[in-house]
Amino acid sequence: PRTVAIVGRPNVGKSRLFNRLARKRISIVHDMPGVTRDVITAEVEDGGYTLLDTGGLGLTGSDTPARITKASEAQVGFAIEAASVILFVIDAREGVTGLDERIAQLLRKSRKHVLLVANKADRGQEKLADISEFYRLGFGEPFYISAEHGNGEAEVRNAVLEKLGPVQEETDEERARLHICFLGRPNVGKSSLSNRLLKSDRLIVSDVPGTTRDAVELDFSYTNKDGKPWLFRLVDTAGIRAAPKLSSSVEYFSRLRSLEAIHGSDVVFMVLDAMDGVTQQDKAIAGEIVKAQKPIVIVVNKWDLVHEAFRTHSPGMEKYKNARDFREKFEKAMFDQLFFTPGAPVMFVSALTGHEIDRMLRAARALDRRLDTKIPTARLNATLIKLADRTPPPAIGGQRFKIYYATQTSRRPFRIKVFCNQERTLTESYRRYLEAGLVKEFELDGCPIHFDLVGKK
Ligand code: GDP
Repeated sequence: PRTVAIVGRPNVGKSRLFNRLARKRISIVHDMPGVTRDVITAEVEDGGYTLLDTGGLGLTGSDTPARITKASEAQVGFAIEAASVILFVIDAREGVTGLDERIAQLLRKSRKHVLLVANKADRGQEKLADISEFYRLGFGEPFYISAEHGNGEAEVRNAVLEKLGPVQEETDEERARLHICFLGRPNVGKSSLSNRLLKSDRLIVSDVPGTTRDAVELDFSYTNKDGKPWLFRLVDTAGIRAAPKLSSSVEYFSRLRSLEAIHGSDVVFMVLDAMDGVTQQDKAIAGEIVKAQKPIVIVVNKWDLVHEAFRTHSPGMEKYKNARDFREKFEKAMFDQLFFTPGAPVMFVSALTGHEIDRMLRAARALDRRLDTKIPTARLNATLIKLADRTPPPAIGGQRFKIYYATQTSRRPFRIKVFCNQERTLTESYRRYLEAGLVKEFELDGCPIHFDLVGKK
């Protein structure tokens, strides 16, 4: 992502410069558990980049010079991680201090684009430090500016844009084929569903569990009600079968080539058998899909058998009032036993009758569309702050998880890089809480979000 960071020792005017470049005033609030505004962010629209002021990071208010040095080093380290262009602000009047030199040293090692900005060069101010001092820092001639009055601002703006390079235009939606696959244990109806979709006999349905066939890829289109064809590629995993001797489901699963199918898919259909409920093996498979960070459409197949069972008053069906009640209980039991990304769609279908097969494709398509969402960094951080305000993270061994700054780094899958105090203080349940909160806020139902934590181990 296009990110620009402002660094420099305290009082050189970083936040003034920040407000100028961001073209707005960002107010700073007090420390709070979970997220602080140690790092302040703004989206700079006329350049398409995220601007960061790291100036608050690591400072507490009552800081000794030694602490300030430490905090400044942390700020620079952070900026180097997070940004591609760094604005290194110094004081044009005071000249270069020891701390400036220390910061310069770290920045020189970073190989990032560094622009040296000598602030407080107000018009009519003649008492500027000697330029040779600035040269010695190793970043060439400084940009003389007055963040207070705006002199030199345009030059800095332009230099930043030049270093960032042009905004990459998104390759326009020559919408790629949606790659899908059916995953599930043997005999849940994967091949039957494939056949149903393809309305052809190109895939052989077998009654014999454990039959092996090779994975095949099949392209097909589905014409939506509005007449527009949607293109799909089905990676058939029917060929993926257990090596029969392996006992534990984890081992069993790990051997399967279905991992390849998962990774090659945009959306995975996790197939369950309506009559069987959730089995151990289903759990292992669900876990793999979640681990691969793929969006899931949960497909509960053989729905016709449920109706049939009601009709014939099969034993066991008296627990349910009707098909709807069955569905609700099935869903509840499933979500209790399997962890999926919040909002994962659940479809009750029948490969035999074709019930809800179209909806299954529509659900996949809708999920896929969400994967294109770009989360603006400022809103992402504001949301995390809000979530941490609402439910502060638990203290782990006297430490609380704290996010300094977060930014989306990819979309398929969603990856969010989170700069935090200590990686280990993020509990799994809090991670899920944050994920669920982001899914809700940015309408990413069913799309897993992966957090890449950057902090002390
Ligand atoms: P796979 O191993 O997951 O590919 O499962 P198959 O597609 O080979 O199906 C296993 C068995 O379940 C076959 O006998 C199918 O005819 C049957 N089957 C699949 N889908 C349905 C369904 O929706 N309703 C009913 N009644 N049977 C189904």
